[in-house]
Amino acid sequence: MATLHSNIPAGPLSQKWEKHKFSSKLINPANKRKFKVIVVGAGLAGSSASATLAELGYEVHNFVFHDSPRRAHSVAAQGGINAAKNYQNDGDSVHRLFYDTIKGGDYRAREANVHRLAEVSVNIIDQCAAQGVPFAREYGGLLDNRSFGGAQVSRTFYARGQTGQQLLLGAYSALNKMIGNGGVKSHTHSEMLDLVVVDGHAKGIVVRNLQTGEITRHSADAVVLATGGYGNVFNLSTYARGSNTTAIWRAYKRGACFGNPCYTQIHPTCIPVSGDYQSKLTLMSESLRNDGRIWVPKRKEDCKKNPADIAEGDRDYYLERMYSAFGNLAPRDIASRAAKYVCDEGRGIGDTGLGVYLDFGESIRRLGEDKVRERYGNLFAMYHEITNEDAYKTPMRIYPAVHYTMGGLWVDYNLMSNIPGLFVLGEANFSDHGANRLGASALMQGLSDGYFVLPSTIATYLSTVKAGSRPGTDGAAFREAEESVRAFIQRVSSGNGKRTPDSFHKQLGKLMWEYCGMARTESGLKKAIQLIGDLREEYRTNVKFLGAAEGWNQSLEKAGRVADFIELGELMCRDALMREESCGGHFREEYQYTAADPEVQQGIVNVGDVKRRDDQFAFVAAWEYAGAPDKAPILNKEPLVYEEVKMSTRSYK
Ligand SMILES: Cc1cc2nc3c(=O)[nH]c(=O)nc-3n(C[C@H](O)[C@H](O)[C@H](O)COP(=O)(O)OP(=O)(O)OC[C@H]3O[C@@H](n4cnc5c(N)ncnc54)[C@H](O)[C@@H]3O)c2cc1C
Repeated sequence: MATLHSNIPAGPLSQKWEKHKFSSKLINPANKRKFKVIVVGAGLAGSSASATLAELGYEVHNFVFHDSPRRAHSVAAQGGINAAKNYQNDGDSVHRLFYDTIKGGDYRAREANVHRLAEVSVNIIDQCAAQGVPFAREYGGLLDNRSFGGAQVSRTFYARGQTGQQLLLGAYSALNKMIGNGGVKSHTHSEMLDLVVVDGHAKGIVVRNLQTGEITRHSADAVVLATGGYGNVFNLSTYARGSNTTAIWRAYKRGACFGNPCYTQIHPTCIPVSGDYQSKLTLMSESLRNDGRIWVPKRKEDCKKNPADIAEGDRDYYLERMYSAFGNLAPRDIASRAAKYVCDEGRGIGDTGLGVYLDFGESIRRLGEDKVRERYGNLFAMYHEITNEDAYKTPMRIYPAVHYTMGGLWVDYNLMSNIPGLFVLGEANFSDHGANRLGASALMQGLSDGYFVLPSTIATYLSTVKAGSRPGTDGAAFREAEESVRAFIQRVSSGNGKRTPDSFHKQLGKLMWEYCGMARTESGLKKAIQLIGDLREEYRTNVKFLGAAEGWNQSLEKAGRVADFIELGELMCRDALMREESCGGHFREEYQYTAADPEVQQGIVNVGDVKRRDDQFAFVAAWEYAGAPDKAPILNKEPLVYEEVKMSTRSYK
């Protein structure tokens, strides 16, 4: 069994981070430059970490598979980033952001981490504004805010519908400055394919240059993975097509535990699937729920009608009806499941019946079209480009889609995995979000990890390492890692099967969506584990190789990524099967509130809301690789102890 120490500092919650920083060891400036740190990834988490570590004086090497660090998937983030600034004077505070995030995560996140996140949130905005990130401003010049799901205050900072892009440009500028002055060595087109562990410590990586096919070894005193989320295991998702799990999956196979793999966020406002040819789904930002109202027809027979012909009284604004306190701003898991319910009842709209309306008619009447255009113009334009429909005149059609993964490599309070020297940041770690990420909290976490947490906590580890002691790349562990990468490429490239990696990916995605998507059951998950196991075996013998093993070959890249997705999909199903409760983004049909439950009768929750089982499942599931893909992984549990917040039934009514 793995040894898991969460290393949560002692003391009152609100003082833990300050005390921890004070009691942590420091490394003097002259010694910092003797330590080399590898950072894989240059999204918000990786760029901010690389730039900040280099500013501190460490020798940083940054690796990305993209052709430029600024192409990371973080550019896609639209809606905004939370911070407890309370500029609106509407009752926000660090404690309220902490509380909302713990509650939003359905009491499955670590209290201490979440409190730190809320504290640091205020620094992030200052840091980014100082970098020149063009946050939206009010008439008087102060930064503007809008509301996001799961909160009754306005605390989301934004830059139109391009917040991620603008934040990434800020972090990328900081990174470029350090590349320019030699503090960071940037390795683009470089895909990490293995982690090197020497005497139990992470000491390097093996990468393949995607342009030349060259495979190289790199050693360091510590390795940081900031490689993003793995939602593309579902094939169709709102992620960039290139987002994948390879870096963290290979680290898992080297001994890093995988935390809560089944927790998946399904976002309620995406453009519905339109056909089998699609490779990607498009998010319509949650910020649209500030002014858009969600509805379906009350009667099934109205579903095919033009929405303009459905009278106001014949519309069911179901979120406003079911969750009156939060209405259209109910958290994502709740809004997504509610859309599923109304569509399952046969009241979905559009050709497939898997869609609901997001309607701006009332806001346009109240605010005027110009105001709505000013707030969301680029989102409306994007919707028009994809659907050829004008959402100023007719409601948008939306449906839930996979959007974010809350699981990832297990890390302690210092963001270090159970392999000493391996740190994991941003969406790649199992994160501070528990079972459900609220909107605008991923950007906050990635930048908190990269700008503020890791730069402080990495010293705790490096102070235990003798400066100048990192191993050379000719040792046995490096040789073995490179050989295993070469063996995989050799095996795939000599395969003469009939199916492309893409066809396996599509099949996996359909299995995952059907059995491990918005609703999960014991029998469905057992079936999925069996079917994915069969798929894994078929993949070994029947994958078709196109092109050459040397040089640029996207078929080869996909072959590796899909192999990892298949194995990860199986782990996700095992995790979902083990977790015999419902919480946030994990909904087991067997565990939901029914009309007989007192909480329903007292009006706290609705029939069909998730039912947690705190007495048995208030833990982080940290899965450990058992040595072979067909061996059942080992489950480690980190208990979740709540000192400040009382676990209670999550209610948004
Ligand atoms: C459409 C969309 C909209 C969103 N909107 C919001 C929002 O409004 N607010 C919010 O808070 N969150 C939002 N999110 C979530 C948020 O954008 C992401 O969680 C966050 O940006 C992830 O940042 P990251 O740095 O962890 O990873 P990423 O930005 O995904 O970066 C990963 C990096 O790792 C590199 N990499 C990966 N694997 C390897 C490998 N094997 N070898 C080398 N390099 C590798 C990539 O090249 C890349 O540089 C949104 C997500 C989507 C999909």
